[in-house]
Amino acid sequence: MSCKCQGCGKQYRIDVGVTDEIWERIKPSGKAVGAGMLCGSCIMARLESFNEYGSYELVESGSYIPQQIICADGLSPNA
Ligand SMILES: [Zn+2]
Repeated sequence: MSCKCQGCGKQYRIDVGVTDEIWERIKPSGKAVGAGMLCGSCIMARLESFNEYGSYELVESGSYIPQQIICADGLSPNA
């Protein structure tokens, strides 16, 4: 099961969450507020593009339930 990244087009299985504020700075262009899907690599690349020092924590989501994963935007994951 995976989702398709709207940045690089690759399939990804790790959904990296960021704050709403950060997401609005890095989301794929043309997406509505809170919408869009990016893989971890694209998220990190876009964070790097801020060209400023940042510190982030990567923690496991407490709501992670593999059987019920639905990609952002309400799209079904690709099998
Ligand atoms: Zn990507």
